[in-house]
Amino acid sequence: MAENQNQQAAARIRALTKQLNQYSHEYYVKDRQTVEDHVYDKLYQELVDLEQKFPEWVSLDSPTQRVGDHALEGFKKVIHEQPMLSLSNAFSKRDLLEFDQRVQKLSSKAVSYMCELKIDGLAISLKYQNGHYNGGATRGDGTVGEDITRNLRTVKSVPINLQQPLTIEVRGECYMPKASFVALNQLREENGEEVFANPRNAAAGSLRQLDSKVTSSRNLSTFLYTVADFGALTAATQAEALDQLDAAGLRTNHERRVCRSIEEVWTYIEEYQEKRQTLPYEIDGIVVKVNEFSSQAEIGYTVKAPKWAIAYKFPAEEAKTVIQDIEWTIGRTGVVTPTAIMTPVRLAGSTVSRASLHNYDLIQEKDIRLLDAVMIHKAGDIIPEVTSVLIEERSIDSAPYPMPTHCPVCQSRLVHLDEEVALRCINPMCKAQIKEGLNHFVSRNAMNIEGLGQKVLEQLYEKGLIKDVAGLYFLTETDFLSLDKIKEKSAHNLLQAIAASKNNSVERLIFGLGIRHVGSKAAKILAEYFGSLRSLKKAAVEEITAIDSLGGIIADSVVQYFKKPEVQELLQELEKADVNFEYLGVKKSEIAAIESAFKGKTVVLTGKLTEYTRESASEKIESLGGKTTGTVSKKTDIVVAGKEAGSKLTKAQKLGIAIWNEQQMMKAFKESDS
Ligand code: NAD
Repeated sequence: MAENQNQQAAARIRALTKQLNQYSHEYYVKDRQTVEDHVYDKLYQELVDLEQKFPEWVSLDSPTQRVGDHALEGFKKVIHEQPMLSLSNAFSKRDLLEFDQRVQKLSSKAVSYMCELKIDGLAISLKYQNGHYNGGATRGDGTVGEDITRNLRTVKSVPINLQQPLTIEVRGECYMPKASFVALNQLREENGEEVFANPRNAAAGSLRQLDSKVTSSRNLSTFLYTVADFGALTAATQAEALDQLDAAGLRTNHERRVCRSIEEVWTYIEEYQEKRQTLPYEIDGIVVKVNEFSSQAEIGYTVKAPKWAIAYKFPAEEAKTVIQDIEWTIGRTGVVTPTAIMTPVRLAGSTVSRASLHNYDLIQEKDIRLLDAVMIHKAGDIIPEVTSVLIEERSIDSAPYPMPTHCPVCQSRLVHLDEEVALRCINPMCKAQIKEGLNHFVSRNAMNIEGLGQKVLEQLYEKGLIKDVAGLYFLTETDFLSLDKIKEKSAHNLLQAIAASKNNSVERLIFGLGIRHVGSKAAKILAEYFGSLRSLKKAAVEEITAIDSLGGIIADSVVQYFKKPEVQELLQELEKADVNFEYLGVKKSEIAAIESAFKGKTVVLTGKLTEYTRESASEKIESLGGKTTGTVSKKTDIVVAGKEAGSKLTKAQKLGIAIWNEQQMMKAFKESDS
């Protein structure tokens, strides 16, 4: 009987080891995810429990005995003199209390705990020599990582020079902010590319690029949390070490808190479980560390993780619902995207009834069918996604969802281009694409034509009053008055808004044209570099790739776009309408010469502004050499507080930061213009 049990355990341990290693390989090496983390964690816990009962069957390649996975080919390898470890996990308050008891037992003194947010990115190591950046690496398998020095150099929060001439190795997390993740996936979807499942995969995929220009375009950031090799730093606690990193100019996360007891730790965890959705980056838990280094040394390590720290993982926020329908929409580049229409359900603070399924491959891979019961979650805490199908609840007469063959709008045959995952409608006259292109052209980051919504555009197009974006500039009052629900006043306002957009700086037009792969950031870079659309349309691929942050894909796409005869015709029409083709912003090289109260200053805008929108104020401040950020910290120089400013204002008052009202900001704008 016992022998039988032992053999069963051995077989299960072998199976779990194999399966978990396969998942880890996908996760760490390919930056993809085959199963949700909580599924992985459950299987992992089963393995830990079995290995504890049957230690004779623990194999060397068990995921409980090693960290991460092998370094990727193509990168130089870096040996970590001090291993980069993982963390043990806690999933409940009970797990935390047990952790506390273990700590008390192993430590001769009373300890305090440092609570830090568990940032969902990937671990990195940075080296500085006499205060100068001297290399960066991934964790890899903990002992051997990948040399990503060049890529990390493009990450803005990684300082090239420290405030002090330290020789030091520090570690932390490189992550992608939620907003960048959403924008990146949107762009990838429009371009027919595979989307990233979550910000962690997106950060890992962006950092482990052989071409550092790709990394540079991805808007990554970092928080540092450990000193591997202290150099000249002397700290007795984690709290002091983090303060010293801050002082040296290395970015740390300021939501941290020292707690005197495990009960206080629990209060912190509950607080951040609430707050997590409001943070601009994704966190998947809280890391609890013994604060005193002397106690850490006493408590020690396992092969894989420190015994003086634990990661409390938030429970997976999932909801169950049913797929009622799958809707197919055509984007402005012809990409055909499926959206699941689901029975409305509450999930992480909102009611969810739609989730993008991204492309047909995903429907097939997950075998999603009509009327399936599914589990959904929010990727990056924002985007609803179908995580799994509850196959056991499926009715026997359900059938796989068939691949659509024709465009639901223009009925032309759908195709797969090159290596794309997306299905595409390649009919340039497809109404859906043209209408999407019009919506994009007038949108906020493009020409920003206020009041010209989807319904008005749709009518203008359907009535044959416009056939492309240039047509907008030839509309008359009579045209508008012929539309439903448009009276003289709104016709007048619309015409004014359209006319005002002619004076936009050209990056808005470049973005608005909807050139594949050119997002608003790339449009700004192109506009600043070439100065006008006339120069840009003549540019060769090599001229574009000569710009530091733009790669070959964007360059090819731009050059191909301007070669098209219909594009040349469109530009002629826009020129005839007097639409501005020049870059009107201040070039980076010219900013150096400007004298302004904002130069070199970090500014936070909060509350309601009346004369400016947040974007226009922020654009202006940046054109005057300032930087605007979203959170108030010790590094903030000025907080511009509009009406009804809330917690940011209070925090600024607490930190003694200069607080201006909108009038003071406008006065400073004026003074720099004169
Ligand atoms: P982990 O993510 O559980 O915790 C350790 C890591 O946390 C550190 O390496 C560091 O990168 C990070 N971290 C973030 N903030 C930190 C802070 N303030 N202080 C210290 N560290 C901080 O461990 P891991 O070894 O990176 O990954 C294991 C986990 O990865 C699993 O529990 C699972 O959730 C996930 N995983 C999932 C799959 C899958 O297929 N879904 C496969 C493998 C691993």
